[in-house]
Amino acid sequence: MSNSLEHAGAILTIDLDAIGANYRLLRDRFQGAECAAVVKADAYGLGVEAVAPALARAGCGTFYVALIDEGIRLRRVLEDVDIHVLGGLLPGSLDAFAEYRLVPTLNSLAEVEAWSGVAAGADEAPSADLHIDTGMNRLGLPRDELDLLCREPERLGATSLATVMSHLACADDPGHPLNRRQLEDFTGARAALAGAGVGAGASASLVNSSGIFLGPEFHFDVARPGVALYGGNPLPGKPNPMAQVVRLQGKILQVRDVDTPQTVGYGASHRITRRGRIATVALGYADGFLRSSSNTGSGYIGDIRVPFVGRVSMDLITIDVSAVPQHLIHPGALIDMIGPSNPIDRVAADAGTIGYEIMTALGARYHRVYAGDGA
Ligand SMILES: *Cc1c(COP(=O)(O)O)cnc(C)c1O
Repeated sequence: MSNSLEHAGAILTIDLDAIGANYRLLRDRFQGAECAAVVKADAYGLGVEAVAPALARAGCGTFYVALIDEGIRLRRVLEDVDIHVLGGLLPGSLDAFAEYRLVPTLNSLAEVEAWSGVAAGADEAPSADLHIDTGMNRLGLPRDELDLLCREPERLGATSLATVMSHLACADDPGHPLNRRQLEDFTGARAALAGAGVGAGASASLVNSSGIFLGPEFHFDVARPGVALYGGNPLPGKPNPMAQVVRLQGKILQVRDVDTPQTVGYGASHRITRRGRIATVALGYADGFLRSSSNTGSGYIGDIRVPFVGRVSMDLITIDVSAVPQHLIHPGALIDMIGPSNPIDRVAADAGTIGYEIMTALGARYHRVYAGDGA
């Protein structure tokens, strides 16, 4: 759903060609066999029905989602791709994996056993991924469960393992010692499984977006990039190698000249100290534009920076446009809230968060435009 161009308070443009280019850049960097794409959370808020087909046209054949329902939704869009569900099994959900040809991630020994029950009743050994926890303490088999599985591999039953995977906690911080420790633990876990005769034909998968840039020794067979496909910088603090995907243009509703002494917005948190002009723009925290960017964020008109003044409110943001030629500032004129001069990571930093959160919070009231097709 998307509001009409005329009636929406802001226009969200998603560049599918940039997503396609980002996929190919990551695939070329990755030395393993297969670069997959993570499209959980509605393709990081950008709309999985448009984004996943664009990735498929760019050459991607393997997709990861977090939840079963996301997998079902994706299956309705893409008939012939591999879909893996990171979140694992949920009680009562086992049948859906077969019905929609989804590959579950087994995140604990209990899930390994639950799936072996499914495998026992199936004509063909159903495949699953095995997630080994090497330092996240979130999902995946902890060390003791891995050891037990290696001692008693029959717990897997007839399950055929598609992938043995783990997930890095600090991939965006290349100097962090945990990266190497997780690499060693993952290598050790694979050797232990192999020693127990488990997962002989399985692929191995360790890296997310940032992990691809840690170097080939981290790569293994399958990469699972998400945020970098959508333009987020996988190398925080360094120039972003990815093409920008998201542009968000807010519409000016009203312009006013202000003079001292006055304040702007709720809580009177911004005090006007000299003559100027304030534009009120038609989006706010109800659209996922975080309130924590009050008085710290900024928009751009062309390459002129226009700072937020006062608090971001539910539907409105007030912006100091004093520096912009008057003919550019009128009701209906557009201000880049995310754009070439204020990319997603910059907007996130101004709000005290990360690009992931800005993207996945992008609201439902915008007029959405998909540009290009990814091919
Ligand atoms: C979300 C997720 C990814 C993708 O991570 P990015 O940092 O967005 O590239 C990969 N693997 C797992 C297990 C994830 O949960």
